[in-house]
Amino acid sequence: MSIRMTILVLVPALMLLGGCKTNPETGRAQLRLLPSAQVSAMGSEAKPGLINEYGGEAKSAELRNYIDEIGRKLTPHVAEEFAEVEWDFIVLDSEVINAFALPGGNVFISRGLLQRFTNEAQVAAVLGHEIGHVTGQHVDERISHAVGLQGLLVGIGILAGGSDSELVRAAPTVIGGVGTGFLLKFGRDQELEADSLGMRYMVAAGYDPQGMVQVLEVLRDAAGGASPPEILSTHPDPGRRINDAKRLIDRQYAHTRNNPDYQLRQSRFDQRARPHLGSPSSVAMFAPGFLRCGGCCSSHH
Ligand SMILES: [Zn+2]
Repeated sequence: MSIRMTILVLVPALMLLGGCKTNPETGRAQLRLLPSAQVSAMGSEAKPGLINEYGGEAKSAELRNYIDEIGRKLTPHVAEEFAEVEWDFIVLDSEVINAFALPGGNVFISRGLLQRFTNEAQVAAVLGHEIGHVTGQHVDERISHAVGLQGLLVGIGILAGGSDSELVRAAPTVIGGVGTGFLLKFGRDQELEADSLGMRYMVAAGYDPQGMVQVLEVLRDAAGGASPPEILSTHPDPGRRINDAKRLIDRQYAHTRNNPDYQLRQSRFDQRARPHLGSPSSVAMFAPGFLRCGGCCSSHH
């Protein structure tokens, strides 16, 4: 094997071996090249700017406390590797329908999304989904794939004739083009994984997992059925997610059906959230988030 061939094979292999780790929550092997502390720090840094961008936190302390309480029913059920995460549940004072999470444990939900809900299990489903992006370490995974791809292209560029080769200069363009499909597909798998983790946490906390199905239906209806073709969307088609959630209930959570231990908690939502939400705007405003884009990657949209 020539030196050039050896490098071509070894560099990506070492890169993958060095960064391939098993996620403690899912048991899935994933590429993670960055130290967790660094990824968390990126999340903390983005937090104040995002809160500002969405018009600050909701004014009602009662509403903020209530949502925080729901979040804290879910977090005791994450894998023990995430026991040290400092979770924060933030209600954004925005009519835009959105929810997202930052690595490090900051979870956001907008007043505009809450306005469309009718029970506590739906809130738990969204917060659980966003917690799932954090424990699934999805941001790290996305960045690592992008970085890995770039490293690979630079490596090939060097082999092709020095660091100033056409290929190296073209690398960012290649990532923007060829790389996008790669990252998009990835995002869809992560969304389904976050749905599944969200259901795991909500069931563990005593919520009826039908709440997840209801959330996905609310989002589908709010979007007016205008979901982009699945292949072009960072999120899977809502219909696909609804089917997956229903199948999961059939297979794993059948015991929750008509079982008083698993509740939707409608009256509690009516009492504690409804009075502080205002009425929803007639036209649904979407931001890249829970439905449209990786909740994990929406900080720059
Ligand atoms: Zn998501």
